[in-house]
Amino acid sequence: KRLGIALVGLGGYSGGQLAPALQHTKNCYLAGIVTGTPAKAEDWSKKYNIPQKNIYNYQTFDDIANNKDIDIVYVVLPVSMHKEYTIRAAKAGKHVICEKPMALNAIECGEMIDACKKADRLLSIGYRLHFEPHTQEVMRLGQKQVFGKVTKVETGNGFTYNGDPNAWRLKKALAGGGGLMDMGIYAIQGARYTLGQEPVAVKATQEKTRPELFKDVDETVFWELQFPGGAKVTGKSSYNNDWGYLRAQAEKGNFELEPAYGYGGLDGKINDKPMQIPNIRQQTAQMDDFATCVNLKKQSRVPGEEGLKDMKVIDAIYRSLDSGKWEKI
Ligand code: NAD
Repeated sequence: KRLGIALVGLGGYSGGQLAPALQHTKNCYLAGIVTGTPAKAEDWSKKYNIPQKNIYNYQTFDDIANNKDIDIVYVVLPVSMHKEYTIRAAKAGKHVICEKPMALNAIECGEMIDACKKADRLLSIGYRLHFEPHTQEVMRLGQKQVFGKVTKVETGNGFTYNGDPNAWRLKKALAGGGGLMDMGIYAIQGARYTLGQEPVAVKATQEKTRPELFKDVDETVFWELQFPGGAKVTGKSSYNNDWGYLRAQAEKGNFELEPAYGYGGLDGKINDKPMQIPNIRQQTAQMDDFATCVNLKKQSRVPGEEGLKDMKVIDAIYRSLDSGKWEKI
């Protein structure tokens, strides 16, 4: 069955990436929208041919339970709203994709996982790179130890924030944090999927060069992660630097990605030679895969548990920034 997806929150990512990606999906389609802005409802309805009965606002959201056109709810809201809308969607009987970072902290992630289990609904996190071929090659090279054990990973992700100084991304209560939550999460993922292991401890430091803008959230964060296999892993995140790389050194070779984390096309090298792997529409592949999972009643490769693992690392990085010490994850 071709499944109906409803996007909740029609901001930059929904409008710029997800709705266009849904014009190419085979196993699912854009069936509905949830928005608090009537003008957006009208625009989207015309542009994507969405019937009035499939348009909701935040007050009518729970009525989605009675709508057979909608199988999957995709939460694309500020981070502080992820938990509430994931749980309400599951209670309405819908399967859920929730954007990254999954929630404000690991405790919330646990509640979301439990609620979806209780409602017998599948939960997936918007980790589009798990469906991306350069990334899959890095996973293969690292996890299958194609060049022996990976001994070192260096990775960073960030961009120079020049947007609205009042945006939700700069408010801790709405975003949970700054560059670490938004961009650093990719670098944490990158280290985890290169090694195929879970980190056990972290030590972090931070820097602020524009404290007036980043008064409530982190700007640039540096960390060192301890993995059971002993690899030396460093990462960094920023709202003040344009970073996006992943470099892995193994016993008998090396591989790297740059750009490593965006959706505008990845590129990479294996032993200093170009990878020559084609780019795909990441979100199309991601959503089609989840629709297949729902049809087969099969757990996604990026379930809520995957989001929780990253949030545990992020929580420990924030603890380390406070304590100045190594923190267990
Ligand atoms: P955005 O600010 O462009 O959009 C947020 C939307 O939420 C807006 O439409 C806004 O109207 C709506 N909203 C509803 N209630 C709100 C409130 N109380 N305060 C503020 N906005 C409210 O943000 P975005 O860039 O689309 O990000 C949305 C989510 O998607 C975030 O979790 C972000 O991390 C994630 N995201 C993921 C990727 C990716 O590559 N996977 C890329 C961009 C964003």
